[in-house]
Amino acid sequence: MKKTLLTIGCAALLLMTACKNKNNMENPFLAAFPADEQTQGQWNTPYNIPDFKKIKPEHYMPAFEEGIKRQKAEIDAIVNNSEAPTFANTIEALEQSGALLNEVSGVFFNLAESNNSKEMEKIAEGVSPKLAAHGDDIMLNAKLFERVKTVYDQRESLGLTGEQLRLTEETYKNFVRNGAHIPADKQERFREINSLLASLTLRFGNNVLKATNYLTLGLREDQVANLGLTADQLAAAKEAAEADSSFKEAYKFTLHMPSWEPFMQNCNNRDMREIMWSDYTHRCVGADGDNLAIIDSIVNLRLERAQILGFESHAAYTLDDCLAKTPEAVYKCLMDLWEPALKKAKQERDEYQKMLEKDHPGEKLQPWDWRYYCEKLRKERYALNEDEIRPYFSLDNVREGAFNVANKLYGLTFRENNKLPKYHPDAVSYEVLDGDKVIAILYMDFFPRESKRSGAWMTNFREQSYTKDGKKIIPLVSLVLNFTKPSGDKPSLLNFDETTTLFHEFGHSLHSILSDCRYESLSGTNVSRDFVELPSQVMEQWAGYPEVMKMYAKHYKTGEVIPDSLINKIEAASTYGQGFINTELIAASLLDMAYANISEPTEIKFPDFEDAEMQKIGLIPEIISRYRSTYFQHVFSGGYSAGYYGYTWAAVLDNDAFEAFKENGVFDKKTADAFRYNVLQNGNTEDAMVLYKRFRGQEPSIEPLLKNRGLK
Ligand SMILES: [Zn+2]
Repeated sequence: MKKTLLTIGCAALLLMTACKNKNNMENPFLAAFPADEQTQGQWNTPYNIPDFKKIKPEHYMPAFEEGIKRQKAEIDAIVNNSEAPTFANTIEALEQSGALLNEVSGVFFNLAESNNSKEMEKIAEGVSPKLAAHGDDIMLNAKLFERVKTVYDQRESLGLTGEQLRLTEETYKNFVRNGAHIPADKQERFREINSLLASLTLRFGNNVLKATNYLTLGLREDQVANLGLTADQLAAAKEAAEADSSFKEAYKFTLHMPSWEPFMQNCNNRDMREIMWSDYTHRCVGADGDNLAIIDSIVNLRLERAQILGFESHAAYTLDDCLAKTPEAVYKCLMDLWEPALKKAKQERDEYQKMLEKDHPGEKLQPWDWRYYCEKLRKERYALNEDEIRPYFSLDNVREGAFNVANKLYGLTFRENNKLPKYHPDAVSYEVLDGDKVIAILYMDFFPRESKRSGAWMTNFREQSYTKDGKKIIPLVSLVLNFTKPSGDKPSLLNFDETTTLFHEFGHSLHSILSDCRYESLSGTNVSRDFVELPSQVMEQWAGYPEVMKMYAKHYKTGEVIPDSLINKIEAASTYGQGFINTELIAASLLDMAYANISEPTEIKFPDFEDAEMQKIGLIPEIISRYRSTYFQHVFSGGYSAGYYGYTWAAVLDNDAFEAFKENGVFDKKTADAFRYNVLQNGNTEDAMVLYKRFRGQEPSIEPLLKNRGLK
């Protein structure tokens, strides 16, 4: 197998050499990174931003291949160095290798999400296995690991700075976690498991997408008349039906969240709700897009890989690299929240049961009734109408609000500069200033377009670090969002969910913007999965804080500050329905842990395994896990296996962190400085819990979270 791989590799390299001169001239990546110079690249643009307008899809693959080739040569030079291994000639040299590969990856993988095309998809498919094999080649290079280990073993006596010590330890750990110390006879199987898992997880995700697209509910004009659906909802369903030429009915409802959830909340026809619920929860169970066998394989392959690496379970392996450290710590965190959440959910159930009995005497509440009665009661109790809220949350005002919070806390200002190179005309670009110094570039890309994946995320085109000679490289940060578009003479008006999303992603970006670390792999958001959501989730707290809301939530037409009555409604509604939300979330987190925590090969049967786990924790039959196993993509196709608890873990931290601000004033400079200089600035240069405690002065407590979610 290895031989075949090598042959393919050589052929590609030969081809490359043949047209190298031409590529160098025309390929902007290769022009910015000349082969004979070991530089960080020179784009001849402001802030050395990649010259996006010159980059065409055909430039990526040659740049990837050249980048891989150059990093291989750099690794060879480290391995063949006749001098004894030192921090500088081994750990630091490895950290600083692959400059071209980093740059092209930074640009390509971001644009594959935010400005995708068939061409880009094809390149991604082609380059992913090459990058995976390249990664394995580095991590399983025995001579390289030998040198890393030599430095690691002497690390305490080398006079290293704290950050250098951390880099040495993290590098060593990374090798060990990726198989460097496993015996040679197991390496082949290890590589095989990695490649099997890569294709199985990809198939799992594709199956979910197919199943989600496959089933739809079509309704005629006369059928929707008295269903209780909102005008917005009907307009969207009509648009969806019109956009699909093969669709016969007037309205198309789908299993995608933006269509499915409002349907479950508003549809007053119980039978239709049951059909939609059943279709949603049975995705990928049957023969079509069957994920059952894939789950069984993934769970057992992960166990096998963990055990080759010397861990008892996949959970033990994964958590060893997280803040939580052990499965026991994760279970403790989840169970602390589980009891109060379930108690609250049972109270909610009893209320909904009473409502149901009025509509359907003698009947028992079912899972497909929950969202409907929850929504009905929300409207009755809080009279909270989205159309009433939106005018106070125009996109411009919310964005200015986020900038203003960052200014009050950290003294940052944001200067729009649309002359900077942009990856898409829709993106708005800002110079971020600390005093009069530009410390980052921030792109904000607000509205949906066909080439953009759905959802919201923060990302980097380039991360913050320092060059060998001590020059600071500023981060190029990007926020990609999918907000309600402006329509007619109305600007983009956000709902409160979108408002907190903007603050959330902006919080991630501050982690990157304020980063001040020497080494890229330790900087900014390169922290463990259960810590990375702290800077983002804590920013959401400012978005919803009354004093802050009054700063930014102003009517887009009249400039009137949001009235107290509306703030009170938003506040009161924020703890409503939390029994259900937390119960389904923790149930899913515990299901994830159950799969990751098996310690011997187990035949996974659906739904038996899942049902047994849910029974163990006493989940009530009216609620199911937020994701059932067959469509639990975070775990079986995303990067969240043994990690779904991270949202809850970070929520404990962010509620506890904001408590410090509430105690001292939400814009208290001293508290903000403590958060900036202990947490935001330091990336992964120290243990996250050490950083957190330095900020907070004590261990985080779960109490603020319980209080804020109305579970106490
Ligand atoms: Zn986030």
